[in-house]
Amino acid sequence: MIRNETKTVKIGNIYLGGNNKILIQSMCNIKTSKVSRVVKQIHELEEAGCDLIRVSILDENDAKALKKIKKQIHIPLIADIHFSFKLAMLSMKNGADKIRLNPGNLKNETEIESIIQYAKEHDIAIRIGVNSGSVPHELIKENNNHVSTDLMLDQLDQYIKIFEKHNFTNLVLALKASNPLVTLECYRKASERYTYPLHIGVTETSIKDVGLIRSTIALAPLLMEGIGNTIRISLSDDPIEEVRAAKRLLHDLNLYDDYYTIISCPMCGRTTANTKNIATKVIEILEKHHSNKVVACMGCVVNGIGEGMQADIGIACAKKDSYIIFKKGEIIDKVNGKELLNKFEKYLLEIE
Ligand code: SF4
Repeated sequence: MIRNETKTVKIGNIYLGGNNKILIQSMCNIKTSKVSRVVKQIHELEEAGCDLIRVSILDENDAKALKKIKKQIHIPLIADIHFSFKLAMLSMKNGADKIRLNPGNLKNETEIESIIQYAKEHDIAIRIGVNSGSVPHELIKENNNHVSTDLMLDQLDQYIKIFEKHNFTNLVLALKASNPLVTLECYRKASERYTYPLHIGVTETSIKDVGLIRSTIALAPLLMEGIGNTIRISLSDDPIEEVRAAKRLLHDLNLYDDYYTIISCPMCGRTTANTKNIATKVIEILEKHHSNKVVACMGCVVNGIGEGMQADIGIACAKKDSYIIFKKGEIIDKVNGKELLNKFEKYLLEIE
């Protein structure tokens, strides 16, 4: 898939934009000053495939914690700051590889200039973003109380000009709305207008079942059009679910190779098996082994093996408490429910 041309921005030890892979990011949901818990969460996210991690900076303790956290993790650390110039400076001084800033939340341009100066001298990237909720009220009022995509882009444009005036181009841009169609339109326009890399995502999407759909509505078309250099799938859920969802989306759009494909049937009157439960447990096994195989969990052998023919390995229910395990459509074992998952794991490891 052809990607839109963008500048490349260095964040810690990795590069974002240009021809680099699309980076997956998430955000810790623990207070940043609780260092050991934050580090533990980041390690789990690294293990799950997170490329960049963001933490909230609410006070000086959070900003100072960055130094300790950074020493113990392996992926670039992003500080998320609102309203405080002081915390932005302190975060950079304590090792943030990138800061996320909404310049509209700062007091004046002098504060922004000082941040730019420090970031420039220390090679720190800045993500500037406009959210539909952060457009100033006066502007919304002037626009008939409507947050349009043009209003969001105009706002972003004003911020970019300040950075460019000071020759700072180590920028990543974001334009997020909780409405996926507004988000989609914003990023399409931003991609035509700017060559800075884009952080794409729908904001405040809600719980997983809802959020996955809303995120996909915006992100799938953007990614297929070559737009987007880093993604976050925001969910009201454990951040690890955000990373898995991002991997799934990128993988199924052929933008991420090293991940498994799971096929499981919806179940019908032909089966006595609960493919939902089996598939859930199979997924745990696939995640544990960082599998990149195609795996099928089918409720019966009538259609199961045929439909699972494309799978590297699969399970189909033969009759009550009796299952077959197959590889590429060939039956390799017949097992009962108790043996099923252990045997599946054993056969999976043979082909990993
Ligand atoms: S694989 Fe079998 S049990 Fe599952 S939906 Fe198809 S026919 Fe029904």
